[in-house]
Order: sequence, then C-alpha cells, then structure tokens
Amino acid sequence: MTAFAGMIAVVTGGAGGLGRAMVRAFAQEGARVVIADVNRAAGAELAAGIGEAAQFMMLDVTDEQSWTAMMDRIEAENGRIDILVNNAGIYRPNIAFEEMPLETWRLHFAVNSDGVFLGCKHAILRMKETGGGAIVNIGSGMSITANPTGAAYCGSKAAVLMTTKTAAASAGKYGIRVNAVLPGGVPTDMLMGNLVPGQNGDAFLALMAGTSLMGKLATPEDIARGVLFLCHPQSAAITGVHLPVDGGNLPGN
Ligand code: NAD
Repeated sequence: MTAFAGMIAVVTGGAGGLGRAMVRAFAQEGARVVIADVNRAAGAELAAGIGEAAQFMMLDVTDEQSWTAMMDRIEAENGRIDILVNNAGIYRPNIAFEEMPLETWRLHFAVNSDGVFLGCKHAILRMKETGGGAIVNIGSGMSITANPTGAAYCGSKAAVLMTTKTAAASAGKYGIRVNAVLPGGVPTDMLMGNLVPGQNGDAFLALMAGTSLMGKLATPEDIARGVLFLCHPQSAAITGVHLPVDGGNLPGN
C-alpha cells in the first residue's frame, strides 16, 4: 500500500517510543515524514536511519512561535502539510491527587493539552489553504479512565478528546478530518520510566496485560496502524472520533 505517496506527514514526539513506529509506518507507506521533537539527537538519528523519506525538525509543542517556524519551514521546503499526528506527551504519575504540585499539573497541560491545541490550530491554518488534510491526536486510555495517582496526566489527556471534537467540528468544512487514538499501556521509555522503586517491570506489564480483553498489550506498531487507518484517504468519512488501541478494555470505553 502506498496510499500516502506524495503526502507530507508530521509526527510530533516522533523521536519517542510510539512516534518512531508512526514515522516508520508513514515512510513505508510512501509519505515524506517530518520528525518534530525537542530531542534533536534521537530525531536526527531516526531520520538518518530512514533516509530520504524522513527529516528532523526541532519543535517544542508548547511554544506557538516554534509551531509557526516549523510550519513556515515545511511550507518552504515541502510545499504543504497533509497529515499531522499530535503525539508528543509527558507522563509523571505516582503523585497522590492532594499532593500534586500546581507546576506539575501545568506542565502536563502545557505539553499534552496546549501542544495538541497549537498543533490543530496551526495545521488547520495551513491545510485549509491547500484543500484539506488529516489530524490525529494521541490521547490515552487515561483520557477516559481515572488513574488516582495521575490526575494531571488524566486531566490533560481528557482535554485532548474535546479538542479533537471541537477541531473536527470547526474544520470539517475545509475538508480537514480530526480524530484521536487512545493507546493503552505500551512499554516505551514513558511507561517504564515511571515504575516505583522496587516495582518489577515484567510483573507490572503482566498485570496491565491481564486487564485487557485479549490478555495482551498493544505494540508501538499496533498504535501506528490505528493512526494510519484514521489518516488513510479511504477513511474519508471518519472525523471527530476516538479509537482505543489497547487489546480491548470495555469498562473504560
Ligand atoms: P516517549 O516518552 O517514548 O516519547 C515522547 C516523545 O515526545 C519524546 O521523543 C519527547 O522528546 C517528545 N516530547 C516531549 N515533550 C515535547 C515537547 N514539548 N515538544 C516536542 N516533543 C516533545 O513516550 P511514548 O510512550 O512514545 O508516548 C507517545 C504518546 O503516546 C504520548 O502522548 C503519550 O502520552 C501517549 N501514550 C503512551 C502510552 C504508553 O504506554 N507508552 C499510553 C497511552 C498514551
């Protein structure tokens, strides 16, 4: 399938665990991919490994000027933007609700929520001039399920869902579709970097897998397939929805 041939796709947080799989999947399906991240070393290394189909661009999703500069550069170098995946995110759990520092709360909202808002805003501004496009926002199972020690993450990821709907409602008339993917737990640096002291990683993953209907966790490639499905030109009638990719988790859905 080369359904994305000739398209320009941008993946924020593209140097991270899930973003990397999305970048590779879009490149394999014919797109030219911009890896947009604050981690230059990891992003540039990934781009070099993929070759001509990928390039790294520095982007801090919390900074509106950073978005404008990147979009200007993409327009100058590639002419247009067809796909944006707002995937960059942070996760600092293991904090009781009543102990949550306001700055930790605000940091989550800056990256996970402001970052998605700014991405949608600046993609819509460009895409409406070129006849349309597709945006996918990465939420989380915790967009809809409460983690008692992750209030800032849950709140900021819940905001992603309504931002997806309002952006879809506003931009549909320009031929722009906006959807969300909600990953379940996937063993990336984000998830495994937050074990509590003494917690066994394998036991933690087995416990998480045990709560899914299929008894297994999704892989980064599973998440990427969900993203590509929603961005696919043949998904032309799908907008404003969220797709959990988590091995099945009915109580939260
Ligand atoms: P990760 O930590 O491996 O990667 C995150 C990437 O985002 C990194 O490359 C990092 O440099 C980048 N980033 C962080 N702040 C940024 C900023 N201000 N501007 C630009 N880039 C920035 O995490 P991951 O597991 O790949 O997570 C990707 C997305 O999936 C996140 O939105 C996360 O919340 C979501 N998610 C992950 C899981 C999971 O279990 N891994 C589950 C549900 C949702």
